[in-house]
Amino acid sequence: MSLVVASECASESFSADYNSSCTLTTCKMPSPEEASTSTATKPNPTFKELGVIDPLLDALSSLSFTKPTDIQAEALPYALQGRDIIGVAETGSGKTAAFALPILQKLWEDPQPLFACILAPTRELAYQISQQIEALGSGMGVRCAIIVGGMPMMDQSIALSKRPHIVVATPGRLHDHLENTKGFSLRNLKYLVLDEADRLLDLDFGPIIDKILKVIPKERHTYLFSATMTAKVAKLQRASLVNPVRVEVSTKYTTVPTLLQYYLFIPYVQKDVHLVHLANSLSQNSMIVFTRTVHDAQRLALILRNLDFSAVPLHGQMSQSARLGALTKFKSGGRSILVATDVASR
Ligand code: AMP
Repeated sequence: MSLVVASECASESFSADYNSSCTLTTCKMPSPEEASTSTATKPNPTFKELGVIDPLLDALSSLSFTKPTDIQAEALPYALQGRDIIGVAETGSGKTAAFALPILQKLWEDPQPLFACILAPTRELAYQISQQIEALGSGMGVRCAIIVGGMPMMDQSIALSKRPHIVVATPGRLHDHLENTKGFSLRNLKYLVLDEADRLLDLDFGPIIDKILKVIPKERHTYLFSATMTAKVAKLQRASLVNPVRVEVSTKYTTVPTLLQYYLFIPYVQKDVHLVHLANSLSQNSMIVFTRTVHDAQRLALILRNLDFSAVPLHGQMSQSARLGALTKFKSGGRSILVATDVASR
């Protein structure tokens, strides 16, 4: 069980309390300046200098994306030249905009339905990608469809029949629609993105991705993003990309500078008690507790609720609408503790 305090926390009282009862290791994260100077020698060019067009510059400024992250600065020039990209970057690096911006820019120049398809390993990630694309493409009237398991097929078929520009999908459900939804195909697809390719393959989506690759045009652009380059990812890369450019950013520091990280070494049998104590001492903060199993997530959420904490579980055995409901309640502040398995790790 690990714990993330999702807002700035009162480090003094927290560490003082815990020093008396258990071993505590603190780890100070570098400031953004320290992190960036350690990885880059000169500042990144601006989005405008990278060749991003005005409607997207406006959206970037309204999202307060003032300057490109390293992966964006590395990938955008090649992507805008039309090259296939392998991006070695983790969540938190800004990789979503790194692949979304070139797609949106080309879509602006040549608007077409079913222009791009983005494959993600989890439903939550698909929703987040879609939200970011819609925010970046807000001035262009971009239409996105989210095609993930756990939601009604019929609603998704209707969404696909409206010919969205971009489909963000988990592979299994996309394949279901390719097989069973009349009139839907990706025959005119121009861009394919395989996001978090290592996780896609860890979740055994490899065979389904192979089937999807067979029914989409070979003449397309492909972006593959992965946090790690395993042998399986390299094989997928060979099967799906043509003469790609590899861009890689240092992912040594990926947490925000305000996040305080602690390691608590405590006896296994006392974990729940310590968690409750911690929840109490940090009750002014919102909190995500990660658990290894669905059962632990459910059990801890119940314990916390019985003790009057506003906790909500989030795990893969909940229905998709319950999962989205839990996330919304947590994000809006309606619940202060989210007890989650790694479906919530983004
Ligand atoms: P990602 O790695 O794509 O999940 O992005 C991590 C976070 O960084 C998301 O909350 C994005 O909204 C944010 N982000 C992406 N690009 C930028 C940027 N250029 N400036 C500031 N924030 C960004």
